[in-house]
Amino acid sequence: MTKSSTIGYPRIGEKREWKKALEQFWKENITETELLTEMKSLRINDLKKQKDIGIDLIPVGDFSMYDQVLDTAVMFGLIPDRFKHQDEKALQTYFDIARGNDKAVASEMTKWFNTNYHYIVPEIEADAEPTLVENRLLHYFQEAKEKLAINGKPVILGPVTFLKLSKGFEKKDFNKLLKKLVPLYIQVLQELENAGAEWVQIDEPILATTLTEEDITLVKDVYQSIQQELSSIKTLLQTYFEAVDHYEEIVSLPVDGIGLDFVHDEGANLDNLKKYGFPEDKTLAAGVINGRNIWRENLDIKLSQLETIISKVEKKRLIVQPSCSLLHVPVTVTTETELQPHLKNALAFADQKLDEIKILTDSLNNGRDTVEAKLKEQAQSREELWKSASRNNHEVQSEVESWKDVEPKRDQHYPTRQKIQHEFFQLPLLPTTTIGSLPQTPEIRQARLKWRKGDWLDQQYDAFIEKNIREWIQRQEEIGLDVLIHGEFERNDMVEFFGEKLEGFAFTRYAWVQSYGSRCVKPPIIYGDVALTEPMTVKEITYAQSLTEKVVKGMLTGPITILNWSFVREDISNFDVTKQIALALQKEIKFLENNDIHMIQVDEPALREGLPLKTEKQKEYLDEAVYAFKLATSAVKSETQIHTHMCYSEFGEIMNTIDQLDADVISIETARSHGELIANFEEISYEKEIGLGVYDIHSPRVPSVDEMVNNISRALKVLHPRQFWVNPDCGLKTRGISETTAALTNMVEATRQVRNLN
Ligand code: GLN
Ligand code: ZN
Repeated sequence: MTKSSTIGYPRIGEKREWKKALEQFWKENITETELLTEMKSLRINDLKKQKDIGIDLIPVGDFSMYDQVLDTAVMFGLIPDRFKHQDEKALQTYFDIARGNDKAVASEMTKWFNTNYHYIVPEIEADAEPTLVENRLLHYFQEAKEKLAINGKPVILGPVTFLKLSKGFEKKDFNKLLKKLVPLYIQVLQELENAGAEWVQIDEPILATTLTEEDITLVKDVYQSIQQELSSIKTLLQTYFEAVDHYEEIVSLPVDGIGLDFVHDEGANLDNLKKYGFPEDKTLAAGVINGRNIWRENLDIKLSQLETIISKVEKKRLIVQPSCSLLHVPVTVTTETELQPHLKNALAFADQKLDEIKILTDSLNNGRDTVEAKLKEQAQSREELWKSASRNNHEVQSEVESWKDVEPKRDQHYPTRQKIQHEFFQLPLLPTTTIGSLPQTPEIRQARLKWRKGDWLDQQYDAFIEKNIREWIQRQEEIGLDVLIHGEFERNDMVEFFGEKLEGFAFTRYAWVQSYGSRCVKPPIIYGDVALTEPMTVKEITYAQSLTEKVVKGMLTGPITILNWSFVREDISNFDVTKQIALALQKEIKFLENNDIHMIQVDEPALREGLPLKTEKQKEYLDEAVYAFKLATSAVKSETQIHTHMCYSEFGEIMNTIDQLDADVISIETARSHGELIANFEEISYEKEIGLGVYDIHSPRVPSVDEMVNNISRALKVLHPRQFWVNPDCGLKTRGISETTAALTNMVEATRQVRNLN
């Protein structure tokens, strides 16, 4: 019999109960016992749901109180030195590593492969001595057994991926540390074996990235050592997010089963399966349902894929499952009561994806006729959305078509534009500005809430927003900034704001996804053709401009960021969706220009996160990103200055892309990684203008004038003063009014001092 399985299930609960409990605990409104009780009941509830759906292999240990990578580090006693004096087993220590405390800063957090989930980066010293502090998997395994008679499938992050994601040691110490970890993994697995676990899932997503032969040998050695110490428990080596590069070597690794993603990478895993087959003695866990998107699948296609798979793998050695953990999709569609039915019926969140898994497995085991009715219903639901008018805006489609084979570009080359712009704007050397948002006070959030609920009429809300713009234009003038902004007070979120104004987007009520710790995001759904029907930002920006003689910079979110922070339709390519968004932005930019706004910033903070995992795929993505950005921004006059902003520091591999975007000015992070960044720009002899963040906005600390003089001077060692802008490293919406005023005042003073030196 073919089995159904889940790789991982969302931990946040149907209505973010998980988040609420954590935050209540952090605020000391509930005790640790109360927190643990709530977490346990959520966990049991999630297991029970999966059992009721009829999933055979239900994961245990995928649950976390914060993050699964942190769980792994703590389980092996690998905690940063600065927390070592604390009780290592205490829950407080666990949260302190993730969030910091009065005495010690939090561990770094970074994106989990190509997702918007962030994990806590383990800090491991070269001479660390890992130990098994607590076998958390055993605990969860027993809990599932006792409470629900589930023989769970423990899930653990594999040693190779775990170490590859860690920092604090040099490359040469990698193998030494790995050797110390492997026996602990063996111990964990043996204890699970003794407790009666049948399968254990070992996640090695690193296998879906570009690896060297050396890496593969290493992986082979690790799993050889593990496998030879186990007897009855079966190891399932799980990969996800993309196809594996070294298919033949990976499927022959010494484990009992291999989990592959059959959705992404244009079916490369399936092609390889067809070509090279699959070892007869192994189980294949086939990730056929997309764990990264939210659409009901075409189950006929899935069934025919499974037929292909069955021609190579015996049915009894097959497991049907999603392509990755369901951590990356919302929990259930059933709580969405306000969506249009034709959209709602075409959606599948975690629970509905498991229903699909069940249908596919039943079809294989009991025959297609036993699920025929369900297949029909699913096909109908899809068709209704697919055929709906919202998906087929012919005007938009023909506009995209008209750009085919056309290369969007500015009328003039940069050096010419630069002259025209300098003439036009007459800014001083080292112009000072900010990134877009100003403090979103509780008062502003409350006002928006009242307006959304209908307690406030449009007029009242607009007047309130205008008052904030007025106050801050005045404040920015007093501070002495050269280029002003309107402050983004009317925006809740930089993607949602635009999505609500554009056609083709839908918003859900509870479709949250964990982003990091207790923070969840609710991505919009791009379900139809994207169209601009009226100006989105002109009202607020022209109002701000009417209040001052100084330049006010318009503020938009770029096409790649809007795409990457949404759930996107799958019936057309991502590139086509991006082009639709870009054309909508192109129109908005025209509106702004026609209203005398000649400096326009188009933010792309999410450009880097969509980068494919494998190096050879990255160029295509980056080329498309460049195309979309230019499509949006290059139909402007030469004097119109296009800015862009990205807030991260790993620029190495995308340096050329940044240049190709052809934005006149780019502002980026940060005081923290200055040296490296400047070197990047030097390397490609970047000629356009750059605003390197001269202070870090992620902390309430007000940086001193001297500190910023230093940062500016350091940058000027490699960048020409004509090229350099002075700004904070990101938007200021999370900061308070007084600290923001103080910091910007110091920034302007620091700039004045440096100008006098030059
Ligand atoms: N303009 C946005 C802001 O200032 C940019 C946010 C971002 O980079 N994530 O908030
Ligand atoms: Zn930013």
